[in-house]
Amino acid sequence: STKVWTSKIRIALFLSSMRHFRDELRALGIQVEYRELGDPGEETLGEQLRQSLAKLRPQRVILTEPGEWSVAREVEDAARAAGIPTETRVDRHFLCNREEFAAHAQGRKQLRMEFFYREMRQRTGYLMEDAKPVGGRWNFDEENRKSFDRSGPPQVWPVRKFLPDAVTQAVIDLVERRFAKHPGSLADFDWPVTPEQAREALEDFLTHRLPYFGRYQDAMWQNEPWLFHSRISTALNLKLLDPRDVLAGAEAAYRSGQADLASVEGFIRQILGWREYVRGIYWLYMPEYLERNGMGAQEPLPAFYWTGDTEMRCLSDALTQTLRYGYAHHIQRLMVTGLFSLLLGVHPRLLHEWYLAVYVDAVEWVELPNTLGMTQYADGGVMASKPYVASGKYIQRMSNYCTGCRYDPAQSTGPKACPFTTLYWDYLLRYERELTGNPRMTMQLRNLSRLVPEHREQIHQQSTRLRSSLAAGERV
Ligand code: FAD
Ligand code: SF4
Repeated sequence: STKVWTSKIRIALFLSSMRHFRDELRALGIQVEYRELGDPGEETLGEQLRQSLAKLRPQRVILTEPGEWSVAREVEDAARAAGIPTETRVDRHFLCNREEFAAHAQGRKQLRMEFFYREMRQRTGYLMEDAKPVGGRWNFDEENRKSFDRSGPPQVWPVRKFLPDAVTQAVIDLVERRFAKHPGSLADFDWPVTPEQAREALEDFLTHRLPYFGRYQDAMWQNEPWLFHSRISTALNLKLLDPRDVLAGAEAAYRSGQADLASVEGFIRQILGWREYVRGIYWLYMPEYLERNGMGAQEPLPAFYWTGDTEMRCLSDALTQTLRYGYAHHIQRLMVTGLFSLLLGVHPRLLHEWYLAVYVDAVEWVELPNTLGMTQYADGGVMASKPYVASGKYIQRMSNYCTGCRYDPAQSTGPKACPFTTLYWDYLLRYERELTGNPRMTMQLRNLSRLVPEHREQIHQQSTRLRSSLAAGERV
């Protein structure tokens, strides 16, 4: 709860799911040694484990591969200090284990998700027929980038909510007491905390939102935090749901005609492709991955990331919902909060700690490669073949945020200049040399070459003023 400045909702969700699991095991007659927050002793996992080992004197400590490199070390250190051997078992919750991923990576000059994903489709058989991809294509990405027209999203089905039961309420009260100053709110807590609830959440998504998922997975709309997303990442990461059930459910929706292939393939790619791929990357490159800062970014994280108090409407909306629900969908994370930080040049470690703190689904194996690699291009191009840089015009195209914002996404200088647009050009100017030669940046660098020297200088001045304002804590 305090390793990073964790939001109240993330602490409450993790503790509540653990306590429900404890109670479920005890109801089955299994003896459980459970250390509650507030039990005597130093409050680290290692110290609590040391105390339990001294009391129970087990022959071995058996653990499933944890989701964070340092947790594995902490458990091993505690067991070693007690003179007890450890045995780490493969996490069967994933479809590709660490050795299989390492074998996939071996001998490749460059790793790319698409090739890994195709191998996973072949190996597991999801959306395959006669060893070929259903529909004749591996990927329907091109059909999955639509935005809404002016009237906004089609009818958005209200999401299934799970209001706190007695166990969750006790945890909420504890968190309010113990972590009163931590970010975020608990007023809207409605996440699934048991496998049964997680299953209901999945069914709700498969029935009502999956049919629109593909088309609109990149779209954003003010005050619509969920749109057609599944909201199951947290249930998957807490192991309330098995990804195999999720994949089978999505494929069945396609086979029964409930959802089209573009939606189902797009969704399956996220789980069977991206989710497994980022885990492979994490374990392949940790612990040095955490230290990477390929672009040498050094700026502090703007204070408004912890409050949502900014005049930039896109950021204000994404941050407010993040602090309220512990949730933002992928494009909000990648192309709003992540993009702004990339363009500004925030130190990747600071941004990593923020993402780990505020999202209910945040566990380091998945959060770190997405943040450091995918959004900040800080891992030397392992996760992404180019930096995901764009101006405010991308956000304008994919959302209604710019309507009514005090800034104008088309302007890069002057009082109405959109900070994303100013910083976009500034980023290209700062990294022109490093990015030259990257074939995926050719178009953007060609546009940069058309900027006349006065305009370049104005952009430089405007971005310098913006950085000073942010550093001085002025409202931007
Ligand atoms: P949907 O949009 O419905 O997608 C379905 C599922 O696909 C998700 O539940 C998730 O399990 C999986 N998925 C989709 N994209 C990714 C991805 N890039 N990497 C791994 N799995 C993916 N996801 C986390 O689970 N935990 C994190 O801490 C996390 N941090 C992120 C940080 C950044 C900077 C970015 C850009 C992405 C991050 N993601 C993370 C990935 C993704 O944004 C979330 O999984 C998704 O928004 C969760 O919402 P959902 O369940 O409604 O997903
Ligand atoms: Fe965001 Fe710029 Fe659009 Fe405002 S104008 S909402 S800051 S992209």
